[in-house]
Amino acid sequence: MYCTSCGSYVPDNVGICPNCGAAVTPAQPVAQPVYQQPVYQQPAYQQPAYHAPVYTPAEMPRSNGLGTAGMILGIVSICISWIPAINIIVFITGFLGLVFSIIGVCRRNVSGKGRAITGIILSAIALIITFSMYYYLGTTY
Ligand SMILES: [Zn+2]
Repeated sequence: MYCTSCGSYVPDNVGICPNCGAAVTPAQPVAQPVYQQPVYQQPAYQQPAYHAPVYTPAEMPRSNGLGTAGMILGIVSICISWIPAINIIVFITGFLGLVFSIIGVCRRNVSGKGRAITGIILSAIALIITFSMYYYLGTTY
């Protein structure tokens, strides 16, 4: 480098000019601004993967056979519960309807829970009607 005062040559590792004694600071290399070319990344157009829906048996709501059976038993029980003497059957059908319906409601991942709930209600009503008839009217026949 060269002295900024007198222009004489100053070795790089010497901070003072040997000619004039002026302090010579090594010329800072002008930081060349780096113009980085903006990188235009090609947007990756990913082909949307259309996964065919996989219907595994575990995800399919199973048909609620017990719930349906409970509802049918409940309906039958309701119909029979009004008929004196015959309504003794309700003690079986109503009980079974109640049990089936409760199992149907408690089973997980099954469809037709509404039917199972209906079965519980109908079976319970049928049993109540039958019990009531035997309790209040039992002596009359
Ligand atoms: Zn000098």
